[in-house]
Amino acid sequence: MAKSPVTVIGLGPMGATMASTFLGNGHPTTVWNRTAAKAEPLVAKGATLAATPADALAASELIVISQTDYTAMHDSLDDAAHALKGRVVVNLSSGSPDELRRAGEWASRHGADLLTGGVMAPPQGIGKPGAYVFYSGQEATLDRHRETLGELGEATFVGPDLGLSMLYYQAQLYLFWSTLTAYMQSVALLGAAGVSAEQFRPFAAVTVRDLASDGPMGFLKILTETIDAGVHPGDDHTLRMQAVGADHVVEAVREAGIDTAGPLALRDLFWRAVDAGHGSDGLSSVIEVIRRP
Ligand code: NDP
Repeated sequence: MAKSPVTVIGLGPMGATMASTFLGNGHPTTVWNRTAAKAEPLVAKGATLAATPADALAASELIVISQTDYTAMHDSLDDAAHALKGRVVVNLSSGSPDELRRAGEWASRHGADLLTGGVMAPPQGIGKPGAYVFYSGQEATLDRHRETLGELGEATFVGPDLGLSMLYYQAQLYLFWSTLTAYMQSVALLGAAGVSAEQFRPFAAVTVRDLASDGPMGFLKILTETIDAGVHPGDDHTLRMQAVGADHVVEAVREAGIDTAGPLALRDLFWRAVDAGHGSDGLSSVIEVIRRP
C-alpha cells in the first residue's frame, strides 16, 4: 500500500533523522528548514524541499516539527498560518507545558489539530528498538497517524492535556540529567583522590541497577509506595541521619576542592525537610518539601 506523505519542518539532528526515517520507510517526504542547505542530503535521498513554509504545509496532511523550541515554530509558520487548515501538526520540540497549550489554541484558531510530543531517544535512536515518544492531544488524531508516527519510536499516549507530553518528557530529562550529573560529581570527588572514572563505574552501575530492582536496594519502588501512601517510615534510616551524612559529603567535596553547588543543594533540601519536622521520617519525606517549599 502507498505510504502517506509526511512533511518534516526543522532539520537539526533530530528532524533530519526523522525525515530520513520516513523516506527510508517509503513515505513521500517534504522538508523545510530555515537554513535550506541542511536539506541537501535528504533531497539527494529523494525528499522534496519546499520553497516556503506554506508549501511545506500544503504538501502533506501530517506535519512533523522538530525545532529548538516553540518560538521557532511561530517564527516559521505564523506567516503561513492560512495553510494550516485541515493539517495535523505534530510538534516534537521542547517547550514549557503552558507554551504547548497556547500552541494548541493557535493551531485550533487556524483549523489545525496539534499533537505535542517528547521524544525519548537521541537522533541515532530514532526508529530503533527502545525509542518511544510521549504524545498528548486528541487520542483519535494520534490513532489515525499512529502507524506513521510509530516509525520514529513507540507512540505512547499520555492524555489530552497538550502540556502533559512535555511534562513526562521533562520529568524523564530531569531524572536523566540529575542522575548523570550526580555521577560526574562522584567521579570528580574520587578523581581528586586519584581514582579514575573507570575504577568507579562498576560500583555506580550496581547502584543504578539496584535502584530500579525489586531487591532491598530497590528504592524506586520503595519510595513510590511510601509516597503514594503518604507515609514516610524512617525506622531503619532516618532523614536526620542522612542529612548529617549529606553534611559530610559537602565537607568531602570542599576538602577535594571541587564544585560544591550540587551537594550544597542536596544538603539544604534534606535539612529543610528535617526542620519541617521530618527528622525521624524516612528519605521519602523530602517530597513534602519539594511539593510545598
Ligand atoms: P536543535 O534543538 O538545535 O534544533 C535545530 C532546528 O531548529 C534547526 O532546524 C533550526 O533551523 C531550527 N530553528 C531554531 N530556531 C529557529 C527559528 N527561530 N526559526 C526557524 N527554525 C529554527 O536540534 P535537535 O535536532 O537536536 O533538537 C530538536 C528538538 O528535539 C529540540 O527541541 C530538542 O530539545 C528535542 N530533542 C533533541 C534530542 C537530541 O538528542 N538531539 C533528544 C530528544 C529531543 P536552522 O537549521 O536554520 O538553524
